Amino acid sequence: MLAPGSWLGCLGGGQLGRMFAHAAQALGYRVLVLDPDGDGPAAQAADDVIVADYDDIGAIAALGARVSAVTTEFENVPAQSLEQLAALVPTRPSAASVRIAQDRRLEKCFFVKNGLPVGEFAVIESEADIASIGVHLFPGILKTAALGYDGKGQARVANPVELRAAFARMNGVPCVLEALVAFEAEVSVLVARAANGDTRVWPVQENQHVGGILDLTIVPARISETCFVEAQALALRLVTALDYVGVLCVELFVTPSGGLLVNEIAPRPHNSGHYTIEACVTSQFEQQARILANAPLGDCALTQAAVMVNVLGDVWFESATPMQPAWRELLALPGAHLHLYGKAEARPARKMGHVTCTAPELEEALSLAERVKQILRIA
Ligand code: AMP
Repeated sequence: MLAPGSWLGCLGGGQLGRMFAHAAQALGYRVLVLDPDGDGPAAQAADDVIVADYDDIGAIAALGARVSAVTTEFENVPAQSLEQLAALVPTRPSAASVRIAQDRRLEKCFFVKNGLPVGEFAVIESEADIASIGVHLFPGILKTAALGYDGKGQARVANPVELRAAFARMNGVPCVLEALVAFEAEVSVLVARAANGDTRVWPVQENQHVGGILDLTIVPARISETCFVEAQALALRLVTALDYVGVLCVELFVTPSGGLLVNEIAPRPHNSGHYTIEACVTSQFEQQARILANAPLGDCALTQAAVMVNVLGDVWFESATPMQPAWRELLALPGAHLHLYGKAEARPARKMGHVTCTAPELEEALSLAERVKQILRIA
């Protein structure tokens, strides 16, 4: 195990890196962030920052020389940079795992090859591929194979004509067409795997999106016991098959018959796992630090019910002149835990923070979340 006081590196400077830094520092480690923005959420919290692009070979070498292990906080970090780092220090997750999660084509092939349940899909790399698309894929969602997030790079299509137009609008980049799943619920599961193969899984959380962006996470998910256990088992199977080291999130659809379909994976802590800070024995960020440090994995048990409300920049613009939301009123609520990410400028759809509402019973946590939404004027 790395001695406390050692330096841990983080590629990426967003809110996930900020919460990782807080957790790593609580265990006595020092954190060096590499980010193009010297005053981003993670850079503000880190012990030091290298201000550089993620593909700056010199900066990556400097990071590798100064830390004892390195992690990443977003999946679009260049896989070559992770490879470069892996030659210098333990790098978790590996470039090979991240590369699969970065490309929906590789991701789907990995799921199919490993017997993980996925919905109907087809890879579309050229106009010619559209001609052979079966009717069972309509209505569907066309997604760019790479660089999509929060519903970006996606278009709903009802028929081949709309598909052709949508593919042209995506400038003909490689895509995946998925049949629209009539899901009962969207859930996700966080799972951790250490370098020695040890694994832990958190409870299943239920996610509600608005406009393609996560709005609410409800824990435990209101699904059957069988489905809950199956989702956890699937996540454990997935990280082992991927030979993954780190924290990973699996996003799933629950079908009307109670079955599960894997949507996608995120090779890092996840927005739907922020509740683990207050509501689990070990948070996703502490686990990430433990894995980097080669420490034993922590317990993932839920200690209380939780509902997380995302705070987007939109709430700053609810009145005619942009203004700060009613933080005083919110902080007066027992059980409402506010996290703000230190972003200087609020913009619509920008993730500015979140509030985790905790209570002994889920109904109470849900009522508290309603109150939080009223105070913040979240529709
Ligand atoms: P993704 O970026 O793939 O997570 O998609 C963003 C959101 O779009 C998901 O959380 C779902 O709400 C919705 N979505 C994505 N794929 C599908 C699908 N095949 N069927 C129905 N809804 C979907």
